[in-house]
Amino acid sequence: MICPSISEHQMWVKGLAHAISGKANEIPSSSPTTSSPSTINAKNNQGMSPLGEVFSWGESTSGALGHGFNTEVNPFKPEQIRDFLHLDVKSINCSESTTAATTSDGKLFCWGKSDYGRLGHESTQTDICQTPLMVVALNDYHIIQVSMSVTHTLALDNNGTIHSFGGNHYGQLGVGVLSDKCFKPAPLLLKNITFITTGDFHSCAVDKQGALYTWGRGSRGQLGHDDQENKLEPTRVNLDDNYKAISCAAGLSHTIVLCEDGSLFGFGLNGDGQLGIGPTEMDKILFPAPNVYFKRLKIKPVQVAAGANHSAVVTDNGEVYMFGMNKFGQLGTGNLSCSFTPAKVQGLAGKHVVQVACGENHTIALVENENDHSTLLYAWGCGNHGRLGTGDEVDSNVPLKIESISDKKIRSISCGSTHSACICAHQDLLLHDVINCMGCHKKFSVIKPRHRCGNCGGVYCNACSNHRAHIQRFGGLKNRVCDSCHVILTGDQQ
Ligand SMILES: [Zn+2]
Ligand SMILES: [Zn+2]
Repeated sequence: MICPSISEHQMWVKGLAHAISGKANEIPSSSPTTSSPSTINAKNNQGMSPLGEVFSWGESTSGALGHGFNTEVNPFKPEQIRDFLHLDVKSINCSESTTAATTSDGKLFCWGKSDYGRLGHESTQTDICQTPLMVVALNDYHIIQVSMSVTHTLALDNNGTIHSFGGNHYGQLGVGVLSDKCFKPAPLLLKNITFITTGDFHSCAVDKQGALYTWGRGSRGQLGHDDQENKLEPTRVNLDDNYKAISCAAGLSHTIVLCEDGSLFGFGLNGDGQLGIGPTEMDKILFPAPNVYFKRLKIKPVQVAAGANHSAVVTDNGEVYMFGMNKFGQLGTGNLSCSFTPAKVQGLAGKHVVQVACGENHTIALVENENDHSTLLYAWGCGNHGRLGTGDEVDSNVPLKIESISDKKIRSISCGSTHSACICAHQDLLLHDVINCMGCHKKFSVIKPRHRCGNCGGVYCNACSNHRAHIQRFGGLKNRVCDSCHVILTGDQQ
């Protein structure tokens, strides 16, 4: 760094050290480097909402953890994906050896195993993609949700249109024909879609009016059309008009539907009780079968999740109920017996669960403390490859706290076959992690040093942060700020 005097150089060094350590408020107001506020929003410089960062853990050889070839990463514990440092991740979806994420500016990133073209990258059709890579073909759309499966991917844009790509052996892409693989996203004809999800070989979508559509493999009744046919195009499921679907969850060969009034329906394989409707004469149910247990208990399901052969329900009172296969303890009920009816996860009693995610044979719950809104993750089921995030590979049939992430504010979680990931609120950004100026996007160097904006916390070059402004949050002290913040704080448009 270039400084006009020794004293300024010393202040710089001190300022940088403070910025990096996060003790920003101790910096004297005369320092040319200034505060590091606790919240960062490099996108719009409003300084209000922190960014979403991603942590991942579990099986690492597929590239689905997104850490590249970083050998310092311990895959058995949550580790931050460095490539998302400057980005604001909004949603994440883990699948079999793949992961996908959307950012607040509508970009879709996919990484991991690229077979069947399910990453949507022309360049990595036959490879493994080790770090998040944007799906360039969807850059003209604002993607808000993504769901990946063993073979294929659905992406939903903000106009309610689904784009599908990947393997299409059963019609799971919904484009009317079959194919081996397709890396080019194709828009479907369905309109006003609000929710999408994928089972291993089938697809589900819900529209604004609450209609449910399914397509792809139907051999186990997982499409709910009262037959065992594959459907090559989205086909409406015959739900009673009184029921408005809002979301669904799909496993290997089963589907759970959640309606606005809290009603649940299940169809597909029920051999291990994965529909939660009680024991059935046949091991598969071909049409939407109502789940009466929650109505009897007078509690309302608000979220559903499905693993390969197990299912989870979060209720409005913050409880988790599980049903289906329990070979690895994935139901969290303290034993290894499958359950055909919803079984409450007693190990989370007294805690308020806000989201649950199911992997192939494991489950993770996001718990929020209602008083201070702090969050914790609890994991159970198969521990192979470290997918529980607890630091080892031991199975557990009761919820275990993921200790190493207990200081983070977690927003959401997702479980893939053998790995897991979560989005956390990104409270600080280390100065040296920023490669390019957030204003002019030019690369930092010895002669182009980094400056922290005292208002938004973004990192800027000298030319893009040439002003100082009073900042109320820091007792009205004058701080160096970026140009956008200067305009906001002083109304000075220059
Ligand atoms: Zn700049
Ligand atoms: Zn700023």
